[in-house]
Amino acid sequence: MFVDQTSLLLALGFAAFALSATLFVTWLASRTEWFILTWATGAGVLVAAFAGFSINAVIHHYGLLWVSNLLLSGSFIIFFAAACLFTEQRLPRARVMIVAAASALTISVPFVLGFDALGAMMGNLTNAALLLATAWQFWRGRAEAMVWVAGIAALYTLTALSFIPCAVMIYLKDPLVLDVPPSGWAEDLNSIVGLIGLTGIGALSLALNQARVARQHREEANTDELTGLLNRRAVFERFRNLPVSSNTSVLVFDLDHFKAINDRQGHAAGDEALRRFAQVVRHHKPSEACAARIGGEEFLLVLPNMNGPQALAVAEHIRSGFAHEILQGTHGGFRATVSVGLSSGSEDAENFDRLLRRADDALYVAKNNGRNRVAAWT
Ligand code: GH3
Ligand code: MG
Ligand code: MG
Repeated sequence: MFVDQTSLLLALGFAAFALSATLFVTWLASRTEWFILTWATGAGVLVAAFAGFSINAVIHHYGLLWVSNLLLSGSFIIFFAAACLFTEQRLPRARVMIVAAASALTISVPFVLGFDALGAMMGNLTNAALLLATAWQFWRGRAEAMVWVAGIAALYTLTALSFIPCAVMIYLKDPLVLDVPPSGWAEDLNSIVGLIGLTGIGALSLALNQARVARQHREEANTDELTGLLNRRAVFERFRNLPVSSNTSVLVFDLDHFKAINDRQGHAAGDEALRRFAQVVRHHKPSEACAARIGGEEFLLVLPNMNGPQALAVAEHIRSGFAHEILQGTHGGFRATVSVGLSSGSEDAENFDRLLRRADDALYVAKNNGRNRVAAWT
């Protein structure tokens, strides 16, 4: 033995405690990220497992070794559940229950039969399987942030593999009954890899979660709450400083007599009309087009790679699609209409602001000509 095993176990216990405490405090900040609380619980159980193993290394107690093995695998099951929560945003209860029952049986049956070596060996193999399953669960969600997820999956895999020599060494010594607690190079290696794995996974997972939270905030800041379309700031940030190609068109929409709709049908019906209009836009817009709500009842659709006639066809589909919608107000069903201004890029140097101003001018013409129509800037 080249390192004192009890010291290693105590170091692991301390690392697990620090992780559990950090995660718990992180969870307290928002109390919404349930995977973090789950994970903190798993790390807490890990502390108990390491305490059990370190006491067992000194006094070697049959029941304590059994319970410690159950606690260790139990904490890995909780980590697996946390990984599912993180990647799938829900807890697959049945899957976790089956994994937990299978693990408990695999470890406990040998102990019940009086074979503590076999039980410890099964514990090691169960841990390897659980950690590999957790690595796989993260790997499945790699699209979110490849580098971090790959690091987390690699560390889980490494930690999983370090349990296998422990099982092999027990098998080679006496596969059924232990005379002393398992110890030796395999156990030491397992503890050291575990220490690296635990701290590395902790740091990477918190970074991954921070990246997710930051992205969510960015998305929220760019999204119009009522309709789910982009908001004014997002669309202007995206296009304002880009040169506009001659093949770009913009459509500006303004719902007709919207003030009267609010007055007659109620503000809630007005909101519903805005949401329904956004749905109509989503339904008819080409996938590369960019739709935004830029004011109360004003919307913008930027159509890259669309000339005037093509953009006119899209505008007509949206206009007539919306005119056919039946909306619900305080006095039963009603219809609403929209006016549209269209402007397309030309061969001269264009910028987004100028294109938008022209579309606004065209919209004004559409309103003056009786509303519920599309007018193109000429
Ligand atoms: P026009 O056909 O000339 O466009 O007439 P309009 O009544 O649509 O135009 P106006 O600009 O006078 O009125 C816009 C109304 O849109 C006024 C405002 O109360 C309403 N509005 C703005 N934002 C919202 C919103 O988020 N929800 C609801 N329900 N109404 C809104
Ligand atoms: Mg308006
Ligand atoms: Mg209006």
